[in-house]
Amino acid sequence: YPLDVFSIPVHYEGDLESVLIPSGLIQARSEKLAEDIFSDYDGAMIHILCCLKGGAQFFSDLIMYLKRCYSRRTPTVPFTFDFIRVSSYKGMTSSGDVQVHATGMDFEQLKGKHVLLVEDIVDTGRTMAALIPELHKHQPATVRVCSLLQKRVPNSANFVVDYLGFQVPNHFVVGYCLDYEEYFRDMDHICIINKACLPKYDALAQAHRTS
Ligand code: 5GP
Ligand code: MG
Ligand code: MG
Repeated sequence: YPLDVFSIPVHYEGDLESVLIPSGLIQARSEKLAEDIFSDYDGAMIHILCCLKGGAQFFSDLIMYLKRCYSRRTPTVPFTFDFIRVSSYKGMTSSGDVQVHATGMDFEQLKGKHVLLVEDIVDTGRTMAALIPELHKHQPATVRVCSLLQKRVPNSANFVVDYLGFQVPNHFVVGYCLDYEEYFRDMDHICIINKACLPKYDALAQAHRTS
């Protein structure tokens, strides 16, 4: 969508190419994903693992819709959750060097649980391919992945996302907690970045690091 169709934070005007997924559509899709998850797990308790930081907004909205499903239909406790931090990205490219960071997450808690990983975007699939075997070491009952976005990329690891919000074209996207150098997380829509603005954000990030 052209940028003037939706409201964009004034501090990002000129830095975006277009709106790819407006916030209302993200919400509508998240509500349906929550319903699908609820009916697939048949009311069983889920242990949700939010992948920080990009997955934080999607996680927050998804559990809001999940809570509605459970409160209407089951007397059981709906879910537990924890946070994990995984990184492989440097700027705009996936390095392939996937690192799982200590966040205080309790790996012991995974044993026997139905683990649902909540991610912002699957690109090459390397992050998920590295993380899932790590989780399996702690003997969860099942591990599934719910990702808001998956990029259509040639030569990807063909990673299959169990619950997918949207397939997106192979552009760098920001907003809804997805960042470029920590910027753009505070935008409700998912947008395609205007590449001409990258030096500006590189300089801002550099200044921030050295201040
Ligand atoms: P993968 O390992 O699948 O190549 O990369 C997954 C991770 O890279 C995502 O969790 C996300 O943090 C980051 N990533 C991949 N594509 C994009 C993108 O278009 N925009 C942003 N902001 N992050 C991305
Ligand atoms: Mg991520
Ligand atoms: Mg990032």
